[in-house]
Amino acid sequence: MPDLAMLASAIEFLDTAFDMAAALAAADEPLARQDQVRGLQFMMLQAHSRVLLAQYEQRDLVKAIDRLEADAVRAAGWRQDASRYVLRDFGGGTYAYALRPGEERDEPPHLLCARCFQAGGKSILQFVLPGRDGRRIFECHACGKQSCLGRAVPERFAATDPPEPVVRRFAAE
Ligand SMILES: [Zn+2]
Repeated sequence: MPDLAMLASAIEFLDTAFDMAAALAAADEPLARQDQVRGLQFMMLQAHSRVLLAQYEQRDLVKAIDRLEADAVRAAGWRQDASRYVLRDFGGGTYAYALRPGEERDEPPHLLCARCFQAGGKSILQFVLPGRDGRRIFECHACGKQSCLGRAVPERFAATDPPEPVVRRFAAE
C-alpha cells in the first residue's frame, strides 16, 4: 500500500498547480505570466517527487511482504519437518534429536544437532569416533559443535572382553 500521507501531499500540490494554471490563463502581463509558469512548474515537480516517493515505498513494502511470505512458507515447512523428530536422552545429560518411530520414510537412521534444531535448523550429526570414556563423539558440520553422546563410563570399567574382575565385584555388591 502506498504511503497515503505522501499521496495526499501530491494531491495538494496538484490542486495548487491547478489553481495556478487558472491564474496563468487569466494573467495579462508577461512578468505575471512568468511568475505563474515558474510557480506551476515548482508545484508539478513537488507533486511528481511525492508520487515517486510513494512508489518507492510501495515497492519496498511489496518486497517486505514477499520476504514475510517466504519466511512463513519456510517456517511452515520447518515445523512440519521438525515434528518428525523427538529429543532423545542418550544418558549422562546428553541429548540429540532423533526420528520418531514411523517417521523414517526413505531416510536412514540419523541424529540432529540439538543446538541447530532449537535454532530452527536441521543438521545431521556426523559420527567422528568413539570416545575414550565409552561415549560416541559426533560433529555438527553446520555449527561445528561436537557432541559426546551417552553416559560416560570410567575407563577402568569400560573394558569389555572378558569382563574385568573388578566389574564383577561391583556387580555382586
Ligand atoms: Zn549444529
